[in-house]
Amino acid sequence: MGGVAEGDEAALLARFGQVKARIDDSVRAAGRAPGSVRLIAVSKTAPSTAVLPLLAAGHRRFGENRVQEAASKWTDLREGWGDLQLHMIGPLQSNKVLQAVSLFDVIETVDRPKLALALSSAMRQLERRPLCFVEINIGAEPQKAGVLPQEADQFIDDCQRRWDLPLAGLMCIPPQHSAPDEAFHQLAEIAARHGLVELSMGMSEDFPQAIAAGATMVRIGTAIFGQRPDKPV
Ligand SMILES: *Cc1c(COP(=O)(O)O)cnc(C)c1O
Repeated sequence: MGGVAEGDEAALLARFGQVKARIDDSVRAAGRAPGSVRLIAVSKTAPSTAVLPLLAAGHRRFGENRVQEAASKWTDLREGWGDLQLHMIGPLQSNKVLQAVSLFDVIETVDRPKLALALSSAMRQLERRPLCFVEINIGAEPQKAGVLPQEADQFIDDCQRRWDLPLAGLMCIPPQHSAPDEAFHQLAEIAARHGLVELSMGMSEDFPQAIAAGATMVRIGTAIFGQRPDKPV
């Protein structure tokens, strides 16, 4: 069995502690209430042996970007941790929706009518209502998932009224190659227009800016688990 060696585990917990301290610093610097930003530890590609030390340290909120990987990693792992909150943060195909609704507690990537409709009927069928976020393609980048900013108001309305989804907030990945601050502020404005309180924004490279702009959840992988094998250096 592969495991995380003792030294690696200490390094992992040290990085985790540093990230939490930096979140607290950013919250203070922004003049926001302590504890107003929650950390989602993005454990995609990390083995369960890397997740266990965080669970043991009391962390309960994790993000995954693939249904299949999340199912094989978390189905057994989550048993002992009743208050675990598992977030889906990757693209979701309609044919994986039933599995996603039964596995995840939060689905952050609602980005098209077909998916919203499928989620709505899966929730009725399974009698389980994971919180939903609408993903906004805030920089309107052609290669990126998410609802275009100019279509956001209508889509958010439809998610709430037409499909009756338990919508908690908005999520974005800011555009590449430009300062993220403006994108974060734009996301906050759209959320405010709809009375949505949760803002999932900020990753390893930009979470202090996201917190300054009002993030309530930051999604952090690399700064906790280290460089992923799939990520170009
Ligand atoms: C991988 C991923 C993250 C974490 O990114 P890091 O740069 O490793 O912190 C956050 N959000 C989404 C949607 C991701 O896919």
